[in-house]
Amino acid sequence: MPHAANLDWLARSQAAVWHPCTQMQHHAATASPAHLPLLPIARGEGAWLVDFDGKRYLDGISSWWTNLFGHANPRINAALKEQLDTLEHVMLAGCTHQPVVELSERLSALTANTLGHAFYASDGASATEIALKMSFHYWRNHGRPEKSQFLCLAGSYHGETVGALAVTDVAIFKDAYAPLVRHAAHVLPSPDFRLAEPGETSADVARRAAAGLADWLEKNGQRTAALIVEPLVQGAAGMVMYDPEYLRLARQLCDQHEVHLICDEIAVGFGRTGTFFAHEQAAIDGKPIRPDLMCLSKGISAGYLPLSVVLSSDAIYAAFLDDSVARAFLHSHSYTGNPLACRAALATLDIFAADDVLTVNREKARKIGDTLAPLVDHPQVRHLRQRGMIAAFDVATDDPYFSRKFYRAALDHGALLRPIGNTVYLMPPYIVDDAQIAQLATAINSALNRAIDA
Ligand SMILES: *Cc1c(COP(=O)(O)O)cnc(C)c1O
Repeated sequence: MPHAANLDWLARSQAAVWHPCTQMQHHAATASPAHLPLLPIARGEGAWLVDFDGKRYLDGISSWWTNLFGHANPRINAALKEQLDTLEHVMLAGCTHQPVVELSERLSALTANTLGHAFYASDGASATEIALKMSFHYWRNHGRPEKSQFLCLAGSYHGETVGALAVTDVAIFKDAYAPLVRHAAHVLPSPDFRLAEPGETSADVARRAAAGLADWLEKNGQRTAALIVEPLVQGAAGMVMYDPEYLRLARQLCDQHEVHLICDEIAVGFGRTGTFFAHEQAAIDGKPIRPDLMCLSKGISAGYLPLSVVLSSDAIYAAFLDDSVARAFLHSHSYTGNPLACRAALATLDIFAADDVLTVNREKARKIGDTLAPLVDHPQVRHLRQRGMIAAFDVATDDPYFSRKFYRAALDHGALLRPIGNTVYLMPPYIVDDAQIAQLATAINSALNRAIDA
């Protein structure tokens, strides 16, 4: 039960705030098995969130996969305070500023300058829409307007605005709005390695899924604009993981059929899967594959401010250059390229460089794997899996309230963990230390047993 200081905020929030991804009635229904307690947070400190009564929770899911270097990080705070006194915002149409130029250059450098043109927005769903519009408009500018079909993978999640829902394949988010989605993408088989037949490796599953893509493109490549994928980990589908072989083959097939490859690295970018970008784990002739368009958000500002970007290749950018305004990419958002958000992103990249984060994370990922490894012997645990700083497993239970029971039990054990359906996952900020990893594992074990018994 929440204590006095929290209760007031709970009641006021339930009355005045319409929370995302939530049946609001479940916040109030304390006696129902569907009850989802609302967690009032007074402040954050490193990997910790602290409520109004001083109770501390480890942020085991990086506040919806956004936070990289902890809450109230002193280095990011200092950069933002300086930026606040210099330039808080200016429109990006017709104006430019230092943080947006530097960020664009540094992001381009991180793609070996293959994606040298940065188009900004404020959230992931908008980045998806921008990438889809850019791809379609590219083909139109090239005199091929019939290339208008998009492809996505089963279980894909690319955001929830009406346009992004066209390439999202998660029923609970999509079905109610299906009549509004005018141009639904074709859904291809997922390379999910849990689909392996006996004797099949994860690469075999990837090749089987890629054969489905090849078939489709053989017949429909002429009217296809782009394939959009979440490289290596399909987050919202329940941390579905797959072999880099799929990306390698998808890159080749897209080239062969003149179809853009859009990598949605909104969740998996910025080191989450072990490499700076997840797609770098797929290589052709010893060189990482590169998408034609890449969407970034979430970790880009280390969980500080809303920011997203679509990086595009020279070829795509060049297709919009013309005297005609109609051939330009006219998309815009009021806060496009906000200087504070860009400055948070620059401070984030500074930390990656100064602390050699990818190397340090390799050791942390190993620690997380070792700490969770005993779960394979748990009778209800299936498919324990990990890719870099994301670990997950499925729980064999028919209980429709499993995820809520687990969530509530984890909070009691001082951890913020929100299973997706029956999939429990850990996706902590990169600053977690060994003791915090151990504490998260203890919370997972206790919550699992309590949620199953309850
Ligand atoms: C979160 C997410 C999005 C949507 O981002 P929002 O900022 O929530 O709109 C899109 N794609 C992927 C892979 C995501 O994880």
